[in-house]
Order: sequence, then C-alpha cells, then structure tokens
Amino acid sequence: MQDILPGEIERWQAIEARFRRMAELYRYAEIRTPILEQTDLFVRSIGETTEVVDKEMFTFERSDESLTLRPENTASAARAYLEHSVHVREPVSRWYYLGPMFRAERPQRGRYRQFHQAGCEIFGDPGPTSDAEMIDMLARWLTELGVGNLEVDVSSLGGPETRARYRRALLDHLRPRQAELSDHARARLEDNPLRVLDSKDERDQRAARGAPSVLDLLEGEDRSHWEGLCRALDALGTPYRVAPGLVRGLDYYTRTVFEIRAVAGDLGSQNTLVGGGRYDHLLESLGGPSVPAIGFAIGLERLLLALPSELAAKDPFCFIAPLGERAGLKALELSRELRSLGVPVDLENRGGSLRSMLRRAGATGASLCVVIGDSELERGVVQLKDLGAHDQSELEWSKAPFAISERLKPKGQSEGSP
Ligand code: AMP
Repeated sequence: MQDILPGEIERWQAIEARFRRMAELYRYAEIRTPILEQTDLFVRSIGETTEVVDKEMFTFERSDESLTLRPENTASAARAYLEHSVHVREPVSRWYYLGPMFRAERPQRGRYRQFHQAGCEIFGDPGPTSDAEMIDMLARWLTELGVGNLEVDVSSLGGPETRARYRRALLDHLRPRQAELSDHARARLEDNPLRVLDSKDERDQRAARGAPSVLDLLEGEDRSHWEGLCRALDALGTPYRVAPGLVRGLDYYTRTVFEIRAVAGDLGSQNTLVGGGRYDHLLESLGGPSVPAIGFAIGLERLLLALPSELAAKDPFCFIAPLGERAGLKALELSRELRSLGVPVDLENRGGSLRSMLRRAGATGASLCVVIGDSELERGVVQLKDLGAHDQSELEWSKAPFAISERLKPKGQSEGSP
C-alpha cells in the first residue's frame, strides 16, 4: 500500500480528470459506493473458487458480521443497483467510478495491495453494439493519452450452457495432465478448470496449451452475439485480436470478455491495463431481476507506469514575497484577491531577505513572483518578476490582480478534448 504525495499526485489528478471527461462524453454518471461490503457479496459474485476470493481478500469479523475491503467494484455496483431498484426508474444505466481496491497479492511492480481502479458499467443493454463501443472508447482514450503498443484481446465465453460444455471439454483436456499442474490449480481443477487458463504459473500455462477453444463451442444466440461484436468492432475500426484463451479471473462473466495490454513505459510484466466483460446473470444471481450488464476496470497505477512522465502540467501559480510586516498585510489582501480570480498563490510568510525569497520562489516552480517592499508600498505599486522570462515590471496596485491573472492563464487548452 502506498502513499501518494505532492509531486506525484498531480499525475493522478490529471488522469482522473481525463477519465471523468471521457466517461461523461459517453454519458456515464459517477457512483460512489462504500469500500467495505459484506463478504458474502464478493463470494457470491466473484466466485468462491476464484483466486481473488480464495486467496486475496482482506476480510475481518465485526459484531458477528464478516466484512471485506472491496477487491473490485462491479459487485458493489451491482449491489447498489439492486438496493436502489434502479431498473424500475430507467431501462439503461451507465455508471462510472474511481477509487481504491484491496487485494492481498504478493506485491511487485504494477501489483499492489491497495490499488486504484477507474471503471464503467452499463446495466440494461444486452449488446453487442454497446460492448464494441465500450472497447473502442477505451482503446481510443488510451491511445490519445499516449499509451503505446496497445493489444486489445477479445473473446466470448457464451452463456451458462456454453460455459458448462466448455468446462467439460477443458476437463477432458486437463485431467490427463493433472500431475503437471500447480498445487493450487490441481486442488481446484474439478471446481474451476477455467482457472488453469488464467493462471500465472508456468506449469499451468504449459498444461493449458492445445486446450479446446471456447469460440468453437459457441452456438445459437451466443454465436450471433459474438459475431455481432466482431462486426461492430470492425465497423468502428478498432484494432483487436481474437483471443480464445482469455477467460478472466472472476466467475460472473458471460459472453464478451476483453483485456487491454500495453508494451509501454515502465510497465514491465504486469502489463494488463484493463479487464472487462459482460455479466448478464450476476444481478439475477444476487436475487434481483434479469438485467444484462457489461463493465470494465482499468488499473490506475499501471496506467501511470505506462504513461510519459510529462503528463501533468501543473497550473501556473504566483509567489508573493512581502518584505516586512506592513508589506505582509498588503500581501494577504493581494493573495485573497488573486485567489478569488482563480489564481493559485503561494504566500511567503516566513520573512527574510529579497534574495532568499527569490530563491524560494524559484524552488517552488512559480511562474511569477510579486515583490512588495517599503518603496512599493509608498508608491502604491508591486514589482512583478517573471521567473521564466527573467524580466521585471511594475504594476499599479489596483491593476495588479487582473494583470497577474491574465498573464497566468494557461494557453492552448482545448476545453472539450478528453
Ligand atoms: P481485474 O479486476 O483483476 O480484472 O483487474 C483489472 C485491472 O486492475 C488490471 O488490468 C490491472 O490494471 C488492475 N489491477 C488488478 N489487480 C491489481 C493489483 N493488485 N495492483 C495493481 N493493479 C491491479
């Protein structure tokens, strides 16, 4: 679990703002759910035999209740959707969220115990057009952000019948190879053979080679859903790869599943940025109505590792250096006026020589420094030093706030671009 301090937080804020802008362009609305839920919610939705539930949850007892720090947010979103009977009010809901998730994994670069996800969910739309639109939105957004070498993997798990057939076919393939599997995969083989395909263990990956493809087993509506997805992705021009081995680690997925990886930046081997898929039966299995749904989550730590470091330009700000107590009072007034015009101000209250103040101003990264000394006070002016251009001018007191705010306005920001 990590602290994020000033210096680093600016990149987080930039990426969060751009995620919100993208989501809102596609008419998703934000939800915020508690980070704690009853353990049972995750067991029932993610699945008891999955890696996340089996090994990675932070769970504790409190007053005879078992609670868990959310390991992901789709289960919580589904719970909130049902608890507030949202389906009664609107046929289709598009939600997005941002926030911390918790998994007791072995920490390494790109894999942490508290990490942050941003994600979207659509309830009430069976797809496949909305599936394609979601995948396309992500691929475009990541490319615009500057993430290089994207790989978009797409597959379909079909519905419950396909899944049952696939399970049997996989078991037929894996049973003769049981001895080669990792201990975990072997112990869970009969309960959850799909987990072998998702395993990070090399022994499991070897045993899974040559396993039957789920796409060959798709029939009827499951098949036409998959073909419709491919047609919509082709129409949008989204580059994607058909990846029949993609099963995803959570039990609730049906039909469309996808992952986006990047070979970029400092990402290294933990290079899956996005995981998503359809979960048409989850709401029903939680005791609700039958509502089709699809969602994805993107890991923000990994996204930041994949992005160039100059992502976040800090808003330009002004440093005010008063020399003496009387100037200090004037500086308070000027700071307040500048802030009311939207200008961030760093007011130096510690006193000191002009030289030391200018040194401090430079160290903070300020663009402008306002100096107020006795002679400026007498003449009703301030000295304005441009720390980038290294020039200096005098401004009348009454004109200073507006003139400074105009000089600090960021140039060339296009409002609407995500
Ligand atoms: P999942 O919910 O497992 O499908 O994960 C979706 C995305 O969340 C992954 O592609 C990662 O970007 C991110 N993620 C999952 N687990 C972790 C973790 N332990 N640390 C950092 N990011 C993670």
